[in-house]
Amino acid sequence: MRESFVIREVRATTVTVPLEAPLRHSNGAHWGRFVRTIVEVETEDGLVGLGELGGGGSSAEAAVRAAGDLLVGHDPFQLESMRFKICNPTASLYDNRTQIHAALEFACLDLVGQRLGVPVCDLLGGRVRERVRFASYLFYRYAAPSGAPAEVRTPDELVTHALELRERYGFTTHKLKGGIFPYEYEIDCYEALAAAMPGDSLRYDPNAAYSVAESLRIARRILPLRNDYLEDPTWGLGGLRQVRGAGIPLATNTVVVDFEQLATNVLDRAADVILLDTTFWGGVRQCVKAAGVCDTFQIGISVHSSGELGIQLASMLHLGAVLPSLGFAADAHYHHLADDVIEGGKLAYVDGAIDVPTGPGLGVRLDPDKVTEYAELYRSLGGYRYDRDPGRPGWYPLVPNQTFADPERALSPEQLYGESGRWLHDSAMPGTAG
Ligand SMILES: [Mg+2]
Repeated sequence: MRESFVIREVRATTVTVPLEAPLRHSNGAHWGRFVRTIVEVETEDGLVGLGELGGGGSSAEAAVRAAGDLLVGHDPFQLESMRFKICNPTASLYDNRTQIHAALEFACLDLVGQRLGVPVCDLLGGRVRERVRFASYLFYRYAAPSGAPAEVRTPDELVTHALELRERYGFTTHKLKGGIFPYEYEIDCYEALAAAMPGDSLRYDPNAAYSVAESLRIARRILPLRNDYLEDPTWGLGGLRQVRGAGIPLATNTVVVDFEQLATNVLDRAADVILLDTTFWGGVRQCVKAAGVCDTFQIGISVHSSGELGIQLASMLHLGAVLPSLGFAADAHYHHLADDVIEGGKLAYVDGAIDVPTGPGLGVRLDPDKVTEYAELYRSLGGYRYDRDPGRPGWYPLVPNQTFADPERALSPEQLYGESGRWLHDSAMPGTAG
């Protein structure tokens, strides 16, 4: 019946899509752009399914093609056997293809949905909601080369930025990405956000930059605010366990990213909320399975963002659509993008939410002109080092970090960029990061 519905070819194209401004985080920065590899899986009968992954650029392209060679002749309906063909647990010790598998799984779900004429969420149990709510994702930012948007560093700048996002997109939940500055300063900023938007909920994510003792002080200080949770204040299940009990729920997207870790967290609770990432976990279906475990043990869930374009965003929307216990707004970097590679441009936020696509498969298609444009931009700019900060040349963090950025130090575009708009401290590094 499905003789012609087998994989003929797997293609990979790396693109660079500009962000409105460079985003700072505890390990370094997103240098004003996202580098993502677009995966196209084509069947013998000419259907094309879409996937996406980050963190590799041209090396990700090569890895996807190599994995794709293993799938020629594979039936996209056979998702479990594909998982073992690509990333069985012992082979993965030598050749970790978890995120590559995730991109291939998005593409196969897209193919199956197109073949059957149903959206991906209908393959996962069916939607229990039509729209997925998102949090505003607030970053300390460097100014863009033109000076607009301007730097976001002080409490006033952060509040202004948050209110603009709230007005533009309708967000009523706000996540502050931190771990850049000493925690006392960042909590001043967080409290300023709470004061400016008293009815909204908040979450703070310093990406494990602080010690257990600092995390306990953070938890106690922000306890009176409308927190959803405190996300990864410190490193490790053992670290989080020591911060639990301070009265604020803890969330993680760093140390519960597979079933072994989830089992450990069930047996000896460290995190109260698991942020499910469709790439980190190896696909949408793994996240649905993990959500079932979480529901069983009354562990909270939400949807994590690892820096997506529209294809991965669609995977997050279909995941969010089918999780009955999704009580928190999802995370997305998406509103920081200046553009997208999908037909029709960026998916729209209405009242802080994005509609779950209703078309067959993932419900998004590529805009070939945009793919060409942004593949050329990738070739022109190359990769960037996610774990380096171009405004702090030579610095790298320890865990917990001990050398934070100076909150009093403003950096002008002239101090950051050369005449061409390129970073002054951008050593050549073709093909890396994302
Ligand atoms: Mg996080």
